[in-house]
Amino acid sequence: MAAPPPSGLLYTDKPTPMQCPHCQQPITTVVTYENGSKTWIAAILCCFVGCCCIPFCINALKNAVHTCPKCGVVVGVCSK
Ligand SMILES: [Zn+2]
Repeated sequence: MAAPPPSGLLYTDKPTPMQCPHCQQPITTVVTYENGSKTWIAAILCCFVGCCCIPFCINALKNAVHTCPKCGVVVGVCSK
């Protein structure tokens, strides 16, 4: 990636190469997932649709939190 994305919202849920705004190191973000506002709605919908799609729905609708692996600061959140 030519230019690192600005801190704040990141529009991806994949680990992203960037410069950490906190420790100024070139990093690849560590992505963890947290429950977003739509996660519980998706879980309820999955109960009606069928069990087979629960993992997909949960992963697709969770917020992806990007964390610096060097200093541990949260550098961005991909909000769903
Ligand atoms: Zn850092």
